[in-house]
Amino acid sequence: MELQTALNDLKKLQLEMHAYGAAQSSLYLDGATVGPRGGAAARGQAMGILSEKSYQLFVCDKTRELLAYLKEQDAQLDPVQRRQVELLSRDLEQVERIPVDEYAAYAQLQNDSENAWHEAKENNDYASFRPYLDKVLEFNRRFAGYKDAGKPAYDCLLDDYERGMSTATLDPFFETLKKTLVPLVKEVKDRPIDDSFLFSTFDEPRQAKLAAEMMQVMGLTPDFCALGTTEHPFTLGFNRYDVRITTHYYEHALPFSLYSVIHEGGHALYEHGIADEYQYTSLADAASMGLHESQSRFYENIIGRSRAFVEGVVYPAATRLYPDELKGVTPEMLYRAVNKAQPSLIRTEADELTYCLHIMIRYELEKQLVAGTLSTADLPGAWNQMYKDMLGIVPPDDKQGVLQDMHWSGGMIGYFPTYALGSAYGAQFLHVMSSELDVDALAGKGELTPITAWLREHIHRHGHRYDPAELIQRVCGEPFNPKYYTDYLTRKMTEVYGL
Ligand code: ZN
Repeated sequence: MELQTALNDLKKLQLEMHAYGAAQSSLYLDGATVGPRGGAAARGQAMGILSEKSYQLFVCDKTRELLAYLKEQDAQLDPVQRRQVELLSRDLEQVERIPVDEYAAYAQLQNDSENAWHEAKENNDYASFRPYLDKVLEFNRRFAGYKDAGKPAYDCLLDDYERGMSTATLDPFFETLKKTLVPLVKEVKDRPIDDSFLFSTFDEPRQAKLAAEMMQVMGLTPDFCALGTTEHPFTLGFNRYDVRITTHYYEHALPFSLYSVIHEGGHALYEHGIADEYQYTSLADAASMGLHESQSRFYENIIGRSRAFVEGVVYPAATRLYPDELKGVTPEMLYRAVNKAQPSLIRTEADELTYCLHIMIRYELEKQLVAGTLSTADLPGAWNQMYKDMLGIVPPDDKQGVLQDMHWSGGMIGYFPTYALGSAYGAQFLHVMSSELDVDALAGKGELTPITAWLREHIHRHGHRYDPAELIQRVCGEPFNPKYYTDYLTRKMTEVYGL
């Protein structure tokens, strides 16, 4: 093999994989947005075939030989080519360490287990889901063993979602959060904030206008970013010039679409910012799930819920669009309302202060489930006890308790911590950014361009060039440190609640 031929093959392989991915994503997006229900089976069939083809394209002798040859030529590759080979080899290894028959059995189980979860949640019947959860856990323990039998299984699973992450980092991280957040939650609990004016009636057309205005403020233009509506909001990046975000309009909850658009918009800006030279390669991706979430939460909470942005941008837009509905509401009232923090049962509806406690509960429980120190029979009780200890409330049933999230049913064990990490990374980035930019002054004027340019320069443009720990070190000049996040939340809650 010649080096040039091999490099051409590498490029072609990545282009073809991107094409299959884009076709699958298009079908998925279509089904989630405007595709009629009648076409679901046909879309599913087409997606299945595309997934099989892309698997065969990637997991084969040709790819194996190509990557092995390029690794041998390591000295002649430039850093970007070397990284492409590294990331693809990593992916291939991940797929190949699982025997083919187990891979297929697991795919079937994931499908059955998700269906069982849907039904169990609807009927508030944890017992019917429990056997599936046991099997999912068993598979995940075994897969972790294939990856690295010398490492605790849960650490192997964490590493799948956040490269390099382990309980050695997460245990002290969550301990620090707990020490700060639990007392803060207790303090704010008896200081109610009135946010009822955000839950009267807000017609959808004007909510859509508000969403469009927020996208414009964020520099998301319809030429490169389209907004659709789905049951649950998400972001899908085809390439940096074509990113889709979705939201859901609730007539009786103005903040939902407003803040979900800003959140998904943050994800979209990351996709937009990845360098041209990385497009259609394994580098055209975020550094990690946690890093992606750091960008969405940065815009949603750190910018979007800041006093400056709420008073300077959200308030004028919202009161102009809904003058009657928001009559008598002051900028201060709106600021406090969108930052209201209260213990609640449902993770996806939790506020900025309590959100990470929901994650911490899941982290503790899944760690014990994987280690085998907690049985699935005792899981609902353990769940309820932790809600009582951390948030002071107890779910009245499993539907609002242990059955609320679909992650575990689909085999995503070790994923939850990335949400909390994302929030904490964002606060650390804010600390560094603030030494160069007057973030509040810019946010107050709705001038987000310098803020996005900063994030693009330091984070977005690199795509997956670096793993999370290295990227954070480069951006911040120090390793990940949760102190910035607890400081940020303490400052914020002190201000919102006048503590
Ligand atoms: Zn997100």
